[in-house]
Amino acid sequence: MPQYDYDLFVLGAGSGGTRASRVAAAHGARVAVAEEYRVGGTCVIRGCVPKKLLVYGAHFAEDLRDAKHFGWDVPSPCSFSWPTLRDNVMAEVDRINGAYTQTLDNNGVEIIHSRAVVTGPHSVRLDDGSEKTAERILIAVGAHPAIPECPGHEHGITSNEVFHLPDLPKRILIAGGGYIANEFAGIFHQFGSHVILANRSQELLRGYDAQIRDRLLQIATMKGIEFRFNAAFRGIDKGEDGCLTVHLANHEPVVVDCVLFATGRRPNTAGLGLESAGVEMDELGAVKVDAQNQSSCPSIYAIGDVTNRIQLTPVAIREGQAFADTVYGNKPTTVDYDCVPAAVFSHPPLAGVGLTEAEAREKLGSIKVYSSDFRPMKNVLAGRNERALYKMVCDAQTDRVVGIHMIGPDVPEIIQACAVAVKAGLTKADFDATVALHPSMAEELVLMR
Ligand code: NDP
Repeated sequence: MPQYDYDLFVLGAGSGGTRASRVAAAHGARVAVAEEYRVGGTCVIRGCVPKKLLVYGAHFAEDLRDAKHFGWDVPSPCSFSWPTLRDNVMAEVDRINGAYTQTLDNNGVEIIHSRAVVTGPHSVRLDDGSEKTAERILIAVGAHPAIPECPGHEHGITSNEVFHLPDLPKRILIAGGGYIANEFAGIFHQFGSHVILANRSQELLRGYDAQIRDRLLQIATMKGIEFRFNAAFRGIDKGEDGCLTVHLANHEPVVVDCVLFATGRRPNTAGLGLESAGVEMDELGAVKVDAQNQSSCPSIYAIGDVTNRIQLTPVAIREGQAFADTVYGNKPTTVDYDCVPAAVFSHPPLAGVGLTEAEAREKLGSIKVYSSDFRPMKNVLAGRNERALYKMVCDAQTDRVVGIHMIGPDVPEIIQACAVAVKAGLTKADFDATVALHPSMAEELVLMR
């Protein structure tokens, strides 16, 4: 008789938890995964997937305006139905949720639709009060939107609710200046809402290259998105007419119909019982783990956003795969966090991999920066005065490309291939030796002088 109910009990069936569960099961482990909401987690249910579909939907606004320059007769104004897009997006989310569930089933993973709370190094308690035991426990419960403490914060929404809005707001204030804020600023603006983005500091998208961020600010301002900087959130008053008056530091109050908080995400460890097993967490509640994803309790591991390393789906998936291969597949693997590409699906999108110019200057001292600042061909014919900017940062000693940063149409699609080159340690000469593919935007990468 096995000593435990399962070899592995996973908390959370998001991207990381699902990958770890199915790979561990494929390696022969007896696996259960507990999910309190829906299989798929943040990315599939209320993150990357529905967001990207909204970005596609939003892009039509501009494409339809541009179409007349390409000879198309499009009625003006065109109408847009938010409920149609919203419901179609949710139907796609349901489909992927079904596919994830099927994958787990096919691999023999038991799905338990319940919240699970850790009660010891080898045990969890479910909603019905039953206890389950496992040789190992994997914490993959993700994170939740953080909302600044302030009066009236309950009148705002987060990225959890934004996909389900009954109507589009005429005026929306987005608090935050990171990924979610800039992506939804673009989405709502394209749908016709008046958008104000308010951030507590004077910068957008910290961590991205300064020139690229400046270009986004310039284009977004030109399009009509309003920005408020050094605007710490002070509170919301809700009027009898339902309008929200938002109070910000250093700025006049703003009246809007909707407030979206996009002010970072915190690990979902409150009330999870991790203390009962001696699992150490940091000051934000993130589970502290080593390179093997093992916590301070040897039988408990953690992956994904709950560890607050890099909050990106493909990283969580890699961590889940590495955990399962190491522990159950006799194939010790650690995740390499160097040169992880990232993109913001703002309007236009931006993307980067490797060191920014400022980081490279600090780390390497002597660098060379090449750039291409150009108006994409399609924008020229559309009469759209929006310029793309590509930057390549190189180590001046070795000629090695240490970072590539871009803003412009389709750059998230282009950066993936760049990431292979940067990760492989290619030099500027390698790029120069490659013949351009003409006419494309990506050809600028091999033509930079
Ligand atoms: P980000 O970490 O990107 O940005 C948080 C923003 O909120 C920053 O502008 C920050 O300001 C501000 N902020 C933080 N705390 C407070 C506070 N207490 N009061 C007011 N403002 C505050 O977080 P997001 O919520 O946008 O996204 C969460 C994570 O999800 C991202 O870090 C990313 O990893 C992931 N994500 C990835 C996407 C993608 O890959 N395309 C898309 C969406 C999310 P300041 O910078 O001035 O400190």
